[in-house]
Order: sequence, then C-alpha cells, then structure tokens
Amino acid sequence: MKVLKFGGTSVGSVAALRNVKQIVESAGGQVIVVVSALGGVTNQLIEMTNMALSHSSDYESILAQVKQRHLDTISQVVPPHLQHQCNAVVEQFIEGLASFYSMLLLNHDLPADDIDAIKDAIVAHGEIMSSAIVTCMIDGAEPHFAPNFIKTRKSQGTHSLQAELTQQLIKQQLGSAGTQRIVTQGFIAEDADTGKKTNLGRGGSDFTAALIAAALDAECLEIWTDVDGFMTADPRTHPDATVIPTMTYEQAQAMCDAGAKVIYAPTLHPVAKRHIPVWVKNTFNPSAPGTVIK
Ligand code: ADP
Ligand code: ASP
Ligand code: MG
Repeated sequence: MKVLKFGGTSVGSVAALRNVKQIVESAGGQVIVVVSALGGVTNQLIEMTNMALSHSSDYESILAQVKQRHLDTISQVVPPHLQHQCNAVVEQFIEGLASFYSMLLLNHDLPADDIDAIKDAIVAHGEIMSSAIVTCMIDGAEPHFAPNFIKTRKSQGTHSLQAELTQQLIKQQLGSAGTQRIVTQGFIAEDADTGKKTNLGRGGSDFTAALIAAALDAECLEIWTDVDGFMTADPRTHPDATVIPTMTYEQAQAMCDAGAKVIYAPTLHPVAKRHIPVWVKNTFNPSAPGTVIK
C-alpha cells in the first residue's frame, strides 16, 4: 500500500488534475490519496475571513470566484454522470462558507474563542471541496473524512496532534478498508474533545499523509508537487538549484528545518521512525526520477 499526497498546484488546474488521475490510476496495489485545497484557495479563505471580520462584504466577489473555479474544474475533469452530484457538494459547502462569513460580518461582539473556531471551520473547506472533486474524478475511488481520524487537542492556546489516538483511528478506519483507491483530505483535523474542526498548520497536508503512511506501515510515501524533486535550494530564488537524487532522513530534515518548504517540517519524523521511504515527485513531469529520502 502506498500513500500519495498531491499539493495545491498539483490539484490547482485541469491539466494538473488530469495528471493526478493518470498517476493514481496507474499505481499498482492499494493507494491512499491525500489532497490539498486547489492552489491559492486556502489563502483566499483566510483573506475572506479577514474581510468579514473587518465588516467588509468584499469577500462576496471572491467567494463567487472560488465557487466558479470549482464548478469549472468539475465540468472539465469529472465524468459527466457524476458532475451533478459533485456540483451539489461544492454548492453546499460554498453556502456553508457564505453563512460563516455573514456571521462574522454581522456579529460585532463574538467571543475570541468562537471566532477562532469559525476560522478553523472555514479553512477546512478548501480540502473538503478539492477532495470531493478528486474522489469523483478517480475511477473506483472511495472518500474518507480526515477529521474522523486526525485528532488534535488544545493546550495553552494551540492545537497539537494526538499522535496515539490518531494512529489507532487511522488503523481502524483505513487499515481494513478493502477499497483499492481511497481519497482523503490533508491538513484538516478535529478536536478530540469538542468535535470542532482544527488543522495541522499551513502546509500540513504533507504531515497528514505521513501520519497515514506511518500508521499503516505503507510501502512508501509519495509527495507529488511542482518541482522535479528535493533540490539543493529553492529553485524560485536559486535558478541554478539541482535535484538531489537520494537523501537521508537527517539530511532532508535539516533542510526542512532551515526552511525548504517542499516538505512541511514535521512530516519526516513519523515515516523515518518506521523506515518508510519518501519520494518527492513532480506532478507536471511524472517521468522525472525525483528524490528518494530513506
Ligand atoms: P505543494 O503545494 O505541492 O505542497 P509547496 O509550495 O508547499 O508545494 O512546496 C513546493 C515548493 O517548495 C516549490 O515550488 C519550491 O519553490 C519550494 N522549495 C523550497 N525549497 C525547496 C527545495 N530545497 N527543493 C525543492 N523545492 C523547494
Ligand atoms: N491547504 C493548506 C495550505 O495551503 C494545507 C496544504 O496545502 O498542505 O496551507
Ligand atoms: Mg506544501
């Protein structure tokens, strides 16, 4: 069994999603697919929250764009017989977002804890909508809801992962699933005490995928992104950077700790503990060999 994680740019355009479908459907054996929100959507969800909190209704036009982008994507990647159902899911979640934003817009004296809970509920919508599209797009895929098994607990104002509980729930809920292709959301989680939505922090989809791979002792974890592999430096700022074919967990961790955002820093620990190899591969250039971290 393999865990394949696709980041925001990898699910952010029709061309990229077609590659995702091809990569997943040609992978042998059982595959668990972890997806991020469509590229840029998490930032838009946060931007709209800030507008609503400052009592500006300017978020409405952005929300209309977010809705249209998802519906346009569905019309191009989802098989015709599933489009109606998939549109209905997206429309339902866009309506949910509209209610959250109008709650923030109209209520001037919400307690800080309520505002935090609404922010977390809002930001979960990106992954929920992208995963609906990817589930409908991939032949034979079955959806699983990540907040049912990725659990956090609040202490001293921050949400932290409940590692043991999460591991148990992943084993229970995904370990015995007979389906060959499972699709779930990265990043999003649920508070183990209150049942409210939380998350693993920006860039946290990589971590979700690693937690699943570790709990199920996967054959490998594949991080599918928009560069040919883990490189000597960020190619956006260092055009001469080159791909590193093989790295140890320690070498990769040191670069992540120094800010290489290609892998979210907490990701490597759970997989390294179980000696699960991590591949970094390019969704836009799947035949490139990529990087293996082992
Ligand atoms: P995703 O949305 O797939 O999670 P990210 O934007 O989080 O993608 O990570 C991929 C980006 O990480 C690349 O586009 C690249 O600009 C940046 N990056 C920073 N450091 C490195 C590095 N050492 N090697 C490769 N990419 C890097
Ligand atoms: N969508 C979330 C973010 O933009 C999580 C992720 O992409 O890993 O931070
Ligand atoms: Mg990332």
